[in-house]
This record gives sequence, structure tokens and C-alpha cells, in this order.
Amino acid sequence: IMASAKFLSMRGASASGAMPEAILSRTLEESGAGWFWSVNNQGEITYVSEHTAERFGSNAAALTGSPFSELFRPAGHAARDRLPFVLNRQINFDRLVLQSIDAEGRWWEVSGRTCKDGYSRFDGYAGFCIDVTERRASSETTSQLALFDTLTGLPNRLNLARYLNEHSGPGKRCAVLLLDLDRFKAVNDSLGHPAGDALLKQVANRLSKIIGDEDKVFRLGGDEFMAILPGCDDRDQLGDVAHDIIRALSHPYSIEETRCVIGASVGIAISPHDGIYSEDLTRKADLALYSAKSAGRGCVRYFSDDLLQVAEDRRLLEEDLRDALVGDQLTLLYQPQVSTSHEQVAGVEALIRWNHPRRGPISPAVFIPIAEEADLIGRLGEWIIRKACEDAAGWPGAIRVAVNVSAIQFANDALSTIVASALAQSGLLPNRLEIELTESVFLTESADTDRMFARLKGIGVRLALDDFGTGYSSLGYLRTAPFDKIKIDQTFVRDATLHGSRNGAIIAAIVALASALNMETTAEGVETLDQLELMRELGVSHIQGFLYSKAIASEVLAKQLGDGTWAIKPTGHARQRNNRRSLYRKAGAILGGYYYAVIVRNMSETGALIEGLLEVPPGTQIIVDLGDGRLELAVVRRATARGYGVEFSQPLIDDGVGNLTTAQVITPYQLAKHGLAGAAQSGQSKLLPSTALTTVQDFASALGLAAASDALSSASGGHARAGQLLGAHLKVKALFAASNPLQSMSLLNPGGDPRRHLSADDWERLKSAVEDSHNSQLKYIIALIVFTGARLQELLTAVWSDINRPERTWIIAHSELAEERTVRLAEAAIEIFAVLPRDPDCDHVIINPQTKRPFQSVFGSWDAARKKAGLANIGIHDLRCSIKTTW
Ligand code: C2E
Ligand code: CA
Ligand code: CA
Repeated sequence: IMASAKFLSMRGASASGAMPEAILSRTLEESGAGWFWSVNNQGEITYVSEHTAERFGSNAAALTGSPFSELFRPAGHAARDRLPFVLNRQINFDRLVLQSIDAEGRWWEVSGRTCKDGYSRFDGYAGFCIDVTERRASSETTSQLALFDTLTGLPNRLNLARYLNEHSGPGKRCAVLLLDLDRFKAVNDSLGHPAGDALLKQVANRLSKIIGDEDKVFRLGGDEFMAILPGCDDRDQLGDVAHDIIRALSHPYSIEETRCVIGASVGIAISPHDGIYSEDLTRKADLALYSAKSAGRGCVRYFSDDLLQVAEDRRLLEEDLRDALVGDQLTLLYQPQVSTSHEQVAGVEALIRWNHPRRGPISPAVFIPIAEEADLIGRLGEWIIRKACEDAAGWPGAIRVAVNVSAIQFANDALSTIVASALAQSGLLPNRLEIELTESVFLTESADTDRMFARLKGIGVRLALDDFGTGYSSLGYLRTAPFDKIKIDQTFVRDATLHGSRNGAIIAAIVALASALNMETTAEGVETLDQLELMRELGVSHIQGFLYSKAIASEVLAKQLGDGTWAIKPTGHARQRNNRRSLYRKAGAILGGYYYAVIVRNMSETGALIEGLLEVPPGTQIIVDLGDGRLELAVVRRATARGYGVEFSQPLIDDGVGNLTTAQVITPYQLAKHGLAGAAQSGQSKLLPSTALTTVQDFASALGLAAASDALSSASGGHARAGQLLGAHLKVKALFAASNPLQSMSLLNPGGDPRRHLSADDWERLKSAVEDSHNSQLKYIIALIVFTGARLQELLTAVWSDINRPERTWIIAHSELAEERTVRLAEAAIEIFAVLPRDPDCDHVIINPQTKRPFQSVFGSWDAARKKAGLANIGIHDLRCSIKTTW
């Protein structure tokens, strides 16, 4: 076409050459590849062929004189792309891409050459159009391919980067939900890849439906998806979305006539809070997802700075673990397993301990998974088996030794050889060695699993099924695998004694099944006398737990075994105590003008176990720095092997998302002034600059913590007493007759610390704002927070059946932490329950009357209420501490 166009323009408007030109142009036009045109200086058609006119459903005569640009759809936003504009410029143009208005709607590259009249004045254009429809379509697919996932049609990772860059950035609110399917691999492996593909398509559909706008759901590859919610940073709302996603994806799928079920885990990062740039947000969502997955299936986690710390710690630990394997930092301790019938030690479980040269003892629950991921478990596991056999062979008598073998170790063909060789070398009888396996060994290829079971049985060692009650807990495994013992997990045992728990009945069923199959049962983690009693009642054959003994060194055990037997008396609390939260977090301790980098091992509302202090006598006052301006006065109460137990002068509070934090926050300005900015995170000990402030008291008052220390004596009663005092104080009945629990709050007028406490006036404003709230239950929620000291999360999951009215106690569970505690209910709280509307269809105390589901959007309504009341810096959890320090 280019050649013929050139030919035509060379020939110009020569009248004599009409014949060959006409033939040439007709041939070309009939091929459909392109067509010729000319216009006058007004842009009106002076020439198109009959063939071309037909394309437009007309004839050449009719088209002549009409505007050429009307043959095309108006295109582009830029003037230079529009044909009338181009034709007006009176200069040559090339390859303007336009779509014609004919029925086919083809695409053309339009080129034009100017024509001159006899006086060299502009006299219009002559030009040609080339059909580019196919070319255009294929380049469209190419870009479609590059930006969209071919399987699901969702936008892909490349597209994500573009979209996220556009919607995140300084000052832009945006949430990133990263999700990963649980058990997808199992479906893919068992039903085949086509089924896996079909499943992914259905997942994509369900996701798009929930998120609404298809463009906001991305498939990142494999079974990883991401949803982006521009403009959203409300955690409560995000939590709802995440749970909706998990719920929707967990419904059964039907694929090729089979039903299958998968699950999902979600990690959330929020801009600008967690980061402003797309890479940063994605990485943080990734860390949150990692944490969600390690918390179990079907969990949602938000990013928090702790997770960065966790990731870094993990990397460092992995390096150190390599050194530990060659040094002598690892030891095996042995925890007795006591028979319920005669309180004699029947065996011990070998538990590994890592005494880190700088960090001190590190839990195997932390480093075994690292060893597995870093491919160190093989060497570590072999050492454990050999060492346990060697130690056991040296003990008096013939008690058994149990060794934990992880699923990855079990999948290794060498395991049976190692076991046989360890037995041979130590001379230990095979039936004295017990191998503890968790249900995760069944997740790998079954033929290999069966073979390994057979080989180990052939050697004559015993097999125990560990942690029963935590994983899949399928009784089916017990039928097929040759176990000699079932170990009932400690979470199961612990909950069994709690009010309303069904675990007792399940344990009884496990025991019945086990004895029918000739297996023993061991209850793990028995800590209290009531648990022991229950386990005995249920017929469990063995007990392992702190109630009898912690893990002890081989030599100590040998000594206890004296003549070959050891009977232990249980010692412990009668009942279960409040849970501590285990953690591993960098913190600081201020003492004697010095800042010590310390580690918080575990922490409860009232105290913490701190490691890294030296030679501090009990009774010493210190300031604990949890980072980010969270400082609290504390008193050292006792020294233990794992660190110092300290008691906070003022109980910590829940931050509303499940973390403990101090009631007060020290401003960054003050922190900097005293050399404390970023100190807790840095992990560096140092001399503090303020030499004038040598005593902790001085320092505390300089930081404004002195008020807290004064509160020490008055606050010791805790929430429950506060509630009781309050209840007695108020003429509760009269007040609640108005069925507005907030009414009673007018009496709460502490007028104390203006940073946290609400004045009478504040309360009044808050009350009317709450009354106006579209959330009709907000007033009850607030009243219950005040009167029971419950955390918001606890209230949202609490159920009526956990309220024990005669005993005035309420067992409330924290859903995120799977933790329960018992709250004493004051008169006032009981009264609130009396007026709180109860839905017959739902056992939850607080429900959304519309959805009949537990409330999920309290933060939103709270936010609106406090803004309306002009209390922007009072958080809903502040209502708890406001009461606590008042009474
Ligand atoms: P596990 O096999 O369930 O071991 C029992 C854990 O419960 C031990 O924790 C033990 O100290 C703890 N425990 C025992 N009685 C009580 C009690 O009354 N209350 C409470 N709160 N805890 C109790 P430990 O030693 O920290 O080990 C944690 C986990 O690490 C073990 O759980 C096991 O899965 C793994 N592990 C420990 N040693 C080894 C090992 O040598 N090899 C492998 N592969 N894993 C190990
Ligand atoms: Ca175990
Ligand atoms: Ca266990």
C-alpha cells in the first residue's frame, strides 16, 4: 500500500494516467487492506471509491461533500489526535490511528499529504487508510497478557505495582490485604493441577465478589492473592473484610464432582501508618501474613513493628544456631511423666534447651522451626536421639525416654538407621525409647510414611502421638498408625477445667478409644490440682506437667531415681491462674542513671519477666521502657533463673488490638530530652545524659511518671474492686431504671489527670454523643468496659452462657489470643446485663441488631462519638484505665 500510495502521489493528478491508477487502487481496496481518499480545504470529501463508500453503507456521490472526519469516531483527549484539528493544520500527517463508524468498527492508520492549487495555496489533502485492526488486537492481548493473570483474569503482580504506586504514598490512606490459601497444595496434589486451576478460578470469583471492584483484587502467583482498599485505614472495617474473605473462601467448593475445602490467612498493612510506598507496604503485609500463618489457619494479622523485630531476630538466630550446633550451648533436659495410678515416674520426655551466650535460654518452640527452615534439623535431631539414648542407658532402673521427632526428620529416610545405631551404641533397649510424632507427619506422602512406621516398629521402639487436640486431631490416624500412646495437648487439658468447656467429654472419648486400642494416654501441661483431679477422673493413664516437675538435667534425674524408682508428690496451685503472654521483645530498664538494654520474656497486665539485668536486689525500683514512649515504673520482686520478675506500679492496659501497653505515653520531645529516643529498639545499654537525675524517682518525676507511682497504693485493687466500690456507691437500681447505663457515669468525676481522665463535662458530652450513635449498643459496650474492666475485644466475643450470675463471675475469652480469664462482676455490671437487650438467636452478649452477628465495627462508632464529644485523644480502652486509677 505504501508503495502504491507513493506511486499515486508521484503520478499526481495526471489525467492521462487514470487507467493504471484506478486498477491499482481498486485491487488494493478490494483486498480490504486499505483505501484512498481526498478532501478539499474544508475537510470535505472530494474522493472515495464506490467500494469504500459501500463500507460506510452509502455511495460515492452521497459521501462527496460531507466532512471526512465524520467517517471516524472521535478519538483521544489530546487535540492532536482529533481529525478535524489535524486537517486544519495544513501539513502532512502520518499514521493517525482511528476507528471508523462502519458496521465493523475497524481501526485504521490514516495518513495524508497536502495538495496545492495552481497558486501554491493549500487545497486539501489526498491520503490513504491502512487497516490495523488485527495488529491492534494482538498488541492489546500482549499488554493484557503482561498485566493480567491468564488463569483467573485478575490483574497480576505488574499491575499491582502500578495500582499501588498510584494509591499509596505520602498522605494517602490505603490498605493492603495479602492472603494465602491454606491447604491449597493438598488439593492440587491430590486432585491434580486442572482441579487446582479450577479451584483458583473459583477463589478469584469469590474474592472479586467480596471486594466488589474487580480491579482491586490481584493474583500474585501460586495461591497468593492481594486485595487493595484505597482510602481505607479503619482497622475494624478491615478486620470485617478480612474475616468475610476467610469465611467466603472456607465454604466448600465443588470441583469436577468432588467437594473440597480450603482456608485462607490474611496479613494486613495500612498506609500511611505502616509505610507509604508500595514495596514497603507489600513487605509489611507479607510479614503480617507470615505471622498470621504461624498463628494457625484462618487467622488475620495486622502488621506491627514487633514483626520487623521478629523477622530480624529470626535471621540472627539462624546464624547463631549454626554456631550452637558445633559449640556446647545445647543441652537435653528430661521432664518426668508420672503414672496416675501410683505417682511413680514411668518415663521422661527429652526436651532440648539452647543456652545462647548473649540472649540466655531460648525456647525450642522458637528455634526448632528455625532449624527446620534452615535445614539444620537433621543434624540437630540426630544429636538429640543419640544423646537421649546415651543418657537413658546410664540411669538406674528402666524408665523410658521419649524423644521429639519433627515431621521433616520423619520424612528423612535416614531416621530409622539413626535410631537403630543410637540404640546399638548406647545399649539402650528399644522398648525404652519412645518417639513422639505430631499429626503433621501424615501430611506428606503416605507410602513413605507407612514404610517409616513399619521400620521403626521393626526396630522395636515405641511411638507416641504428640500434641493431640491441636492439629487435625483425626481419630482416623489412630486406627491406621501403630501408636502406643496419645499425648493430649496442654491447651486441651488447660481448657478442660474451665466453665462450660466440652474438652472433658472429648478427653473421655479419647481415653476410651485409646484403651480399646491398647494405647496409653498422657495429659500434657498439667499445672494445677484441679486439672490433675479431672484427668484422673477421666481415666488418663499418665500426667506430665509442672505440677509434678519441670524438665531437669540428666544427673539430677539419675540421683532422684536412686534405686530405680521415683515417686513425686504434686505441688502447685489449686486452680488455674491468669495467663501470661509469652513474648520476646527488646526493651530498656532505667536504674541508677544507667539505661540497660533488656529483653522482656513475658508480660502480664501486672508484671513482666525481664532478662538482662544483673545483681538487682528485690525491692529495687526501676523504670521499664517498652519503646515508643511507653515507660512504666516497676519494682523488682524476685530473681529467677530466667530473669527478674518485676511488678508494674500501674497495671498495663490493652491497646485494643490485643497488645499490652502502658496507660501513659511519654512525648517524643521528652524522650529526646532525656536521651531515651529510640533507646528500647536500639538494644544498646548506655549511661544516661541527665546526670542530675540519678535516682529512679527523680527520673520518673521528670518524665511525669510520678503520678503513677502515687497511684500504686490506691490502684492495687484492680478493676473488680473498682467496679464493686462504684456499684456500692451508686444507687444503681434507680439509675438503671432509666435503662441507660451511661447515666451512672455522671458520678465518675475524678477531675484528676487531664490527659486521661474525663471530667464531668466530658462525660456529659460523651453520653449524649453515644446516645445519638447509630450503634444502639455502644452505650452498653462502654458501660461494660467501665464496670468490668473488660477489653473491647473480649466484650465482642463474650457469650451469655459464660456469665455465672450466682457466683458473679464472667469467663471472657480474647479471641485473638485464645486466652480466657475470669472477671468478677460488680453489682453495676449485673445490672447492665439485666437491661442489655438479649437476642434469642445469638449467644453473644454484644451483637449487631441488624446482622445478628457479633459487633465488628465498634471502633467506627466509637470514633464518631468521641469526635462529636470533642474527646479526640481518648481511646475506648482509656475508659478502663480512667476508672482504674480513679478508684
Ligand atoms: P512438646 O513436645 O509439646 O513439649 C512439651 C512442652 O510443654 C515443653 O516445652 C515443656 O516444657 C512444656 N511443659 C511441660 N509441662 C508443662 C506445664 O505444666 N505447663 C506449661 N506451661 N508447659 C509445660 P518446651 O521444652 O519449651 O518445648 C516446646 C516444644 O518444642 C515441644 O513441645 C516440642 O514440640 C519442641 N521440642 C522440644 N524439644 C525438642 C526436641 O528435642 N526435638 C524436637 N524436634 N522438638 C523439640
Ligand atoms: Ca513432645
Ligand atoms: Ca506435646
